[in-house]
Amino acid sequence: MTKKTAIPRERSATIRQELLRLLDGNTLQIKAISKELGKSEKDIYDYLNQLNETNQLSVVPAECVKCGYKFENRKKVSKPSKCPNCKSTYIKQPEYTLKIMQKFRNK
Ligand SMILES: [Zn+2]
Repeated sequence: MTKKTAIPRERSATIRQELLRLLDGNTLQIKAISKELGKSEKDIYDYLNQLNETNQLSVVPAECVKCGYKFENRKKVSKPSKCPNCKSTYIKQPEYTLKIMQKFRNK
């Protein structure tokens, strides 16, 4: 019996649309998104990375709870594992929203 591993395109397009709708006007952490869409955090990161690459995603940077270090200008959207400043692993999760809203706020 052969098994197809490829994800049907229609299905992934739907999740992408749901993600866009969810993030439109909302700023959410990965856990909330994962729960809302019923997908694993790993899957959600894939979609978030896609949005980030196409410049549609706005990321509120993760922050070290211990020393306040901000993880800005990260290429990856996922949560960093360790603070480069104090080596703490107590990191506040990044939050995600859509960039579209911010266009109107430009001075
Ligand atoms: Zn730190």
